[in-house]
Amino acid sequence: MIYNGIDFDTYFKHYPDENGYFGPYGGAYVSDELKQAMKETTEAYFTIAKSRKFIDELRRIRREFQGRPTPISHLERLSNKLGNVQLYVKREDLNHTGAHKLNHCMGEALLAKYMGKKKVIAETGAGQHGVALATAAAYFGLECDIYMGSVDIKKQAPNVARMKILGANVVEVTHGLQTLKEAVDAAFDAYAREYKDAIYCIGSVVGPHPFPMMVRDFQSVVGIEAREQFVGMTGELPDAVVACVGGGSNSAGFFAGFLNDPVDIYGIEPLGRGPKLGDHAASLQYGTEGVMHGFNSLMLKDENGDPAPVYSVSSGLDYPSSGPEHAFLHDLGRVKYDVINDEDSIDAFFELSRMEGIIPALESSHAVAYGIKLAKTMSHGSVLINLSGRGDKDMDYIIEHYGIR
Ligand SMILES: *Cc1c(COP(=O)(O)O)cnc(C)c1O
Repeated sequence: MIYNGIDFDTYFKHYPDENGYFGPYGGAYVSDELKQAMKETTEAYFTIAKSRKFIDELRRIRREFQGRPTPISHLERLSNKLGNVQLYVKREDLNHTGAHKLNHCMGEALLAKYMGKKKVIAETGAGQHGVALATAAAYFGLECDIYMGSVDIKKQAPNVARMKILGANVVEVTHGLQTLKEAVDAAFDAYAREYKDAIYCIGSVVGPHPFPMMVRDFQSVVGIEAREQFVGMTGELPDAVVACVGGGSNSAGFFAGFLNDPVDIYGIEPLGRGPKLGDHAASLQYGTEGVMHGFNSLMLKDENGDPAPVYSVSSGLDYPSSGPEHAFLHDLGRVKYDVINDEDSIDAFFELSRMEGIIPALESSHAVAYGIKLAKTMSHGSVLINLSGRGDKDMDYIIEHYGIR
């Protein structure tokens, strides 16, 4: 399919280009030392991760350990309530550890093993990526250093406990605001020192090349499975697919299955409390081009051009930028990016729980809310939503701040 001059039949061969660019976005803005490490990782990715042996092993792991393929569920009661549109969800909440993040962590850790590395390094904010990577490290017998700000360590005690139980080393970052940004910087510093023995495992389709490409490719299992399953279930393609966008990994992998199809694609960002800077994390909606964390993309900036403070009720979505491929697909118009605020996502959290017996993650609730909204504007057809994770982690917070609705 050709869209705005881009041939999506051959899209994955050409994007990103050899320097890691999706149009103007992407690249690798890092120190010379890290450039070397990125080059080594890129070469390993193309030689090792594209080999038959690696692909077979990852497929076996996905089946036997992760519990893939995850199913698609038809939301029958919710669809009947809404009217003539059929809603479906791809159940990444049923992936081991309860979210899609393990899809790329298992890929990255398997690559580390093939490269002969002893350790995986990463940062974490809310702790979800740290837990997924600690799980992968335990599976492969790799050491695991997770950098986390002191403030986040206090806020995310259950995930800190999980990482430690899984054998990871949680490294406290005590400078600056002691949250995600400082943790990213500390993890990159550690990687620059240790890259001979370690590999950096980023948590989304962000960071310098090759990470946005690698993470998308490892996550594309979601979209490839979903397309085949949906056609098997209904005999046709969905009319629309919807996913939430934080850094953009679950959406990038899910969309990859449908970019070349006549399917409307929606990426949903968090509007939080509203459109004022600092009240949301909708970087594609309100951001401008800039470089942070080693890549060029659309980002939310403060008056000095630094990453702006962002907010969302869902901690997995509050990142001041999104992956370069999303910025590219945004400008191209192939994916429509829109927003959902806190309130609507909380409503959707309860609606899916009550109507279908599925408690969604607050991140995924943004996609569910948009899917419901979209269905109300359609006279017929189908909407497939990527349910990126389960909501157990969010229950205490919701009951404390919103009560039972
Ligand atoms: C981390 C997380 C997200 C957001 O990350 P992306 O890279 O945008 O996918 C979404 N949903 C869940 C359940 C998460 O844990």
